[in-house]
Amino acid sequence: MAESYNICLDIGGTKTLGAVFDSAGNIVYRLKKKTKSAGGSSQNVEELIISVVEELIAKSGIPKKSLHAIAAGAPGVINQESGIVLFSPNLPWRNYDIVTPISKKFGVPFYIGNDVNVGVLGEHQYGAAQGCDYVVGLFIGTGMGGGLILDGKLYTGRDYKGAEIGHMVVNPDGPLCGCGQRGCLEALSSKKGMAAYVREQIARGRESLLDLEPEGGTFRSKSLKKALRAHDVVAMEAVDRSCHYLAIATGSLINIFSPDVVVFGGGIMESMGDIFLEKIAASVGRYCMPSIGTTVQLKKAALGDDSILYGALSMIP
Ligand SMILES: [Zn+2]
Repeated sequence: MAESYNICLDIGGTKTLGAVFDSAGNIVYRLKKKTKSAGGSSQNVEELIISVVEELIAKSGIPKKSLHAIAAGAPGVINQESGIVLFSPNLPWRNYDIVTPISKKFGVPFYIGNDVNVGVLGEHQYGAAQGCDYVVGLFIGTGMGGGLILDGKLYTGRDYKGAEIGHMVVNPDGPLCGCGQRGCLEALSSKKGMAAYVREQIARGRESLLDLEPEGGTFRSKSLKKALRAHDVVAMEAVDRSCHYLAIATGSLINIFSPDVVVFGGGIMESMGDIFLEKIAASVGRYCMPSIGTTVQLKKAALGDDSILYGALSMIP
């Protein structure tokens, strides 16, 4: 039988990753593209997907006929069954049927789901949570994403709006979050939260080596790693604050779901996951029931930047 291939995409607000998988689940070709979303239209994102898939086919040299399916993870509220993108915060999609045009164009099925949920699926099928029926996933990036696997299945709640773990309020008097609420986990523990803390301290006249991006931006994980290595006190405080609230959130999540494993992913975890994991693990016991806390594992995501690509692959039947 001729080899068949799947193409998987991780569509982000700033970059899109694409990969060609062979039937054994190995990545045989990959590429990375900038996503221009500012002022774009749904049509543009559709064109972006088409151009990335076409480029993957052309550059990998796979015969067009051997393409079996395409799957993607993208930010937003997505009906995974129908592929309707109900809402996407960084991409110009509202109640948009992205599945029909893509599957029509390439003549193969197209699957799409929320990127964080798809990332948790990836870790569940191929990564740190393999064989676990109860999984909590937390992805620490610019924002904070969360996903749940309950009873071996992805749990997304009513209308695919659930599992917003990043918007769990962990300090009602805390800083304002992008969602309008105060003290969400995202506002305290994400890169945005850590950057805000460092900015606040600099405004008070303190100094930090952390290389902050301009205009309310965050920082590169590499820069935070460097600042920590240089014993930058303000950066260390930002990390401690982030981990403190991650431990509080994780404790509650453990109490509610009694998961087999809590998987921590995202760029921060990839570059300095051991530091974060150690700090979270050191205090999570204070915030959950001892009887439950002892059976749960805390792990770093195993697939790194590829968890969404592998999760997309796992959506293909
Ligand atoms: Zn929020």
